[in-house]
Amino acid sequence: MVKKSKIKKSKKLRRLPTIRNKLFKLWSEAVLSRTDWTCEYCGAKKGDINKNQKKIKIDAHHLFSRNVKDAVLKFDIRNGIAVCPICHKFGSNSFHRNPITTIIWLQKNHFDRLDFVLNNWTTTIDLNNRKILEEIENKLKAKECLDIQKLQEIQKLYPLKKKKNKIEGNLFESLMEEINQPSSSSDSSEDI
Ligand SMILES: [Zn+2]
Repeated sequence: MVKKSKIKKSKKLRRLPTIRNKLFKLWSEAVLSRTDWTCEYCGAKKGDINKNQKKIKIDAHHLFSRNVKDAVLKFDIRNGIAVCPICHKFGSNSFHRNPITTIIWLQKNHFDRLDFVLNNWTTTIDLNNRKILEEIENKLKAKECLDIQKLQEIQKLYPLKKKKNKIEGNLFESLMEEINQPSSSSDSSEDI
């Protein structure tokens, strides 16, 4: 309870798991809207009536698992497919029941996406890095694919896991900057 109020009083920083959950929602929306809520495997549409006279829902499915830590693919729409529940989980050749379905479907229909998945299935990015999450959020809101190279550049520019030695190094560098500052008066941010 105390912690919550502390968080509210300080900057309104959203918790990282909250941000990542939001990203999954944005990812799903982007994947589903790409086909206007139509199953990419059988062509069923959201709201169609199934055999049991119930309205069909369309799900967004990760072709390559979303449960791999820091895998960049979990937030890229090229790794997603819109599917009805039968094609998703319940049919004998559904994506969940038959792992070969993914490869065959990609090979037949979206070689570009297969190529992308195969080239990036081991690519990881620091998903505790707020700058990276922000960039991913912007892309997903725009319903665009991720720019993995850009994410990697952000990671280099804003590395998170700094060890003590590195911090000391930075401290030394900033001290040197301060010492050198008077001689270069051009960029003095402190007005006296
Ligand atoms: Zn289907």
